[in-house]
Amino acid sequence: MTDIKKLLEEKGVKVIGYSDIGVKINEFDSWISDELFTFLVNNQLNRYLFNVFMRVGSLEIDDWPFNMDLLISNKIKEKVKESFIKKFVCGSCGQILLNEVSVNIGKIDDLQEIECPNCKIKFDFNYKSLEDSFIISKRVLSEYLEQLASRDVIKIRYIKHCPSCRDKKIFDKLDEKDLDLKCNKCNNFLNLNRDYSFNDNFLSYCLMRRGGEWFEWYVYKLCSYMHEEVDHNILIEVEEDGIKKELEIDVIGRDDDKLTIYECKDTKNKSDWKDFESLPYLTEKFENVKIVNSYDSNRKVLQKISELCNQEIINIKGSDLEDNFMGVEPTILRLKSKEWPYNNNGVKSFSKLANEKKLDIIHILLEEINFNEESTESLFAFIKIAEDNPNFIEFLSNNDQTVILEKMKIAKEKIESKELKNFKDRDFSCNIINFMKIVITTIEKDKLLEEFSISDIFNICQDTLKGDLGEDLIDEAYNYYDTFFSIFNDEIGNLNTNNFFSFFDAILPILNRYNSWNKKTETFQKIRKIASYLDRDRTNNLVLKLKENISTYSWSVNWEIVEICKKIYNNVDRDYKKEIKDILRIMSEVDEEKSNTYAIDGLKKIF
Ligand SMILES: [Zn+2]
Ligand SMILES: [Zn+2]
Repeated sequence: MTDIKKLLEEKGVKVIGYSDIGVKINEFDSWISDELFTFLVNNQLNRYLFNVFMRVGSLEIDDWPFNMDLLISNKIKEKVKESFIKKFVCGSCGQILLNEVSVNIGKIDDLQEIECPNCKIKFDFNYKSLEDSFIISKRVLSEYLEQLASRDVIKIRYIKHCPSCRDKKIFDKLDEKDLDLKCNKCNNFLNLNRDYSFNDNFLSYCLMRRGGEWFEWYVYKLCSYMHEEVDHNILIEVEEDGIKKELEIDVIGRDDDKLTIYECKDTKNKSDWKDFESLPYLTEKFENVKIVNSYDSNRKVLQKISELCNQEIINIKGSDLEDNFMGVEPTILRLKSKEWPYNNNGVKSFSKLANEKKLDIIHILLEEINFNEESTESLFAFIKIAEDNPNFIEFLSNNDQTVILEKMKIAKEKIESKELKNFKDRDFSCNIINFMKIVITTIEKDKLLEEFSISDIFNICQDTLKGDLGEDLIDEAYNYYDTFFSIFNDEIGNLNTNNFFSFFDAILPILNRYNSWNKKTETFQKIRKIASYLDRDRTNNLVLKLKENISTYSWSVNWEIVEICKKIYNNVDRDYKKEIKDILRIMSEVDEEKSNTYAIDGLKKIF
């Protein structure tokens, strides 16, 4: 039994089990469920139109009356906060120059040009300068269905139909040969139609019923990003005046031992009292009961509910729904939480948001980050989303990247000042290092090197390694070197000489500092790659460094060292040639067979 059911029973509520709809929701294919949810939560008009499809009870938009109430743009505008259709209106004559589904418009920052055919005025626009449009054309709806099809929520089939002999054939895909539109029975021209259907029984059931059951599933999904545990459509048995009856809890969330009940209403104006008959019982039993509407709620109905329940009940309007559960603010709040599963819910909810909202969140967090105690949570949240979305930098504007680099400068100062070492909160120090790591891996290299020299970056690494930071933090700092290697390693050939040498100078002192053999081997691999490009002084120094710990390495490191020795033997001064022989001699005597073989082989190659 789940904790929710346990808590319900503790409160004296008898749980019968899932209602019929509950069972159907449990059987809803989880992949399709997640794809559909991602689509619906992305934009409020997506959810609105989904509801329209369900109400009409058909996906066949060819038969739709486009003048129906539900599709009148001014009425939609009253109920829906945002649209995925964007328009550009001529500032001079008011002509609509563009009415386009946002996925077709391109990147948020791309500047495009448009000319008004009436006034011949040219306008520049980008995504942000477009207005929301609520004009629902057949083209918009077919784009909408295409998107659902690309997410596997619906399947599209093709039907060839002969109007004269009524022969009918159905195709899952249309090949070129199928484009022959002559009936092979009577040689008449065929009609070709698309046939849309849901890929899952639960959705087909809702469509057939033309009901709002899917909305309960949707609220349940929304709540799953909000609470520690959620459940849905639970039937309970209550006794009133000696008569037993069943009531249904639509959605229930648990945080610790606190329960929140959600009553879902997908009704439009018609809400009658019957829809809410379980409320007086629920409000008497539970402290937190909320009504969640798919539309805006009818004030008279709400008043009646308050009277019957003897209290005001929190009512979430349809237009506030997504913002309430997964908007910018609740998502930031969860991202900042250090408690499981809320921080994870925050990361998941961030990943579901439309790009504009993701950007809003990133901007707010960046603004707050100042590498002081007050902004610890913002830094933590920023790192969480950056680590979870390695590509997030791609949709940041140039300006955003500049801001991030400015923040990196502040971080650098913090690291260089003694402040960091004295900082009590070790997690915070780790976060600064992680922030630097994210910046280094995500900001374009050219841009990064404009602001920071390679030795700058290495100095920051070195500084984080100094001081009494504790074992864990040193591990973090090691990761940081790795990051540095991974970005510059492939391009060593392209670094200018100064950068290249500073890269080497930075690596050399840390040769022995990696704690695991794997890491040590990797570092020596890097040295092997660059060894033959070094100047004489540096090559000489390398020999001394190689000799330092020579009898302590594993065979895999030893192999790298032998290879390095072979490479550089001719580039070092006479004294250092001696040192190389010494290295190989010592290695041939260590108590490890493979290493001995390599060393002897190396000695043979050199002479
Ligand atoms: Zn014009
Ligand atoms: Zn025919």
